[in-house]
Amino acid sequence: MGPVSHMSNEHETRCAGAQAGHPLHQAEALQRILDTCMRIPEAEHIPLEAGLGRVLYEDVLAPLNVPPDDNSAMDGYAMRAADLPSSGSASLRLSGRVLAGHPLGSAVGPGECVSIMTGALIPDGADTVVMREQTQAEDGLVRIGPGHRRGENIRRRGEDLRLGEAALARGRRLRPADLGLIASLGIPMIKVFRRPRVALFSTGDEICNLGDSPRGGQIYDSNRYSLRGLLEDLGAEVLDLGILPDEPERLRSALRESALSADAVLSSGGVSVGEADHVTRVLSELGRVSFWKIAIKPGRPLAFGILGQRTLFFGLPGNPVAAMVTFIRFVRPALQRISGQDPEELPSFEVPCLDALKKVPGRTEFQRGTLRRDDAGRLWVGVTGRQGSGILHSMSQATCLIVLEHDRGPVAAGETVTVQLLQG
Ligand code: AMP
Ligand code: MG
Repeated sequence: MGPVSHMSNEHETRCAGAQAGHPLHQAEALQRILDTCMRIPEAEHIPLEAGLGRVLYEDVLAPLNVPPDDNSAMDGYAMRAADLPSSGSASLRLSGRVLAGHPLGSAVGPGECVSIMTGALIPDGADTVVMREQTQAEDGLVRIGPGHRRGENIRRRGEDLRLGEAALARGRRLRPADLGLIASLGIPMIKVFRRPRVALFSTGDEICNLGDSPRGGQIYDSNRYSLRGLLEDLGAEVLDLGILPDEPERLRSALRESALSADAVLSSGGVSVGEADHVTRVLSELGRVSFWKIAIKPGRPLAFGILGQRTLFFGLPGNPVAAMVTFIRFVRPALQRISGQDPEELPSFEVPCLDALKKVPGRTEFQRGTLRRDDAGRLWVGVTGRQGSGILHSMSQATCLIVLEHDRGPVAAGETVTVQLLQG
């Protein structure tokens, strides 16, 4: 299916009509967004050391066994299991020593043992390692008690990864352990999806740049900083277009230009129904609007559509908390998908809430919370002070969102709520 095939003009008109009165349910909005996302087609080869946070374009297959051969998991003595005593003790002749990186070159015979270090190859003949702490060595003899198992303390060839096995799958966003895993296979270069390029700008005559002196009624642009942080966390490349005044012509040229170079465009502000709110109209002139209202709080105005062939456009609300919350819930999964990654939800779970919360059925609400433990070790969530959608401090202090479902009414203190962590 093409990216926009379901957004016929007729469909748009119907939706625009329906949405004038009825904002979309958040689940439906997210589904529409995800249905529109196409993976970035290009890949690039990069050195493994630059791979953190990048998304694999193809499976990584193991070109060898890890570990390549049986080796010792302990410092101790390597011997034949047939020489282990079932009761009493056995004394074995100490016939040599194997260090990691220095194979023995001869075999361990019956009645013999060799001292062996962690990571050293198991010599021919031996099939068991007894820990040094469980032995007594004296006069060239090593005494071993009962209770040992054939094959103990040996790391088997291929026990971590077997030759030909998929170590990691296409679509995996690489974490530190993954980099180590790929390195253990001796692979220095990897094939990853190109990073998504995201154009970002703020709108509003009242918004000014850091470093400027605010004129009367002006405030500093905070959204471009919080949104850039969220984008960089996702591994996106940010094209910063600065601040645009509330002038349709300036918006038009910014959207035209960024549709050519970006995979997604993110604006904040100008999507409500105020007289200076031009974003949705300009989007409808230059591209296709899928929807512009969602039944959520904060963030009810959120315009989503397509510019050109496949550039996603998100017109985020201007209020700083609303801009972040809508990013986390709607933009993040979309960018993960175009990055080649399967959307990976932030962890969510149920906990009792310390505070009573106001809530009306008919929209999904997101409050900012922190998790705490009581004296009995039980986890609770509480809100981070005042919750206005302009109060960025509430977001800065939060470790999670409290998600109050669409149909839910008010929450009494002590009731269970769903929380979603802000970091994975
Ligand atoms: P708007 O959606 O344009 O009506 O903006 C809603 C509110 O968010 C207004 O109070 C704006 O001043 C504020 N706002 C809009 N953009 C930004 C921004 N980039 N940084 C901080 N506040 C903003
Ligand atoms: Mg505005």
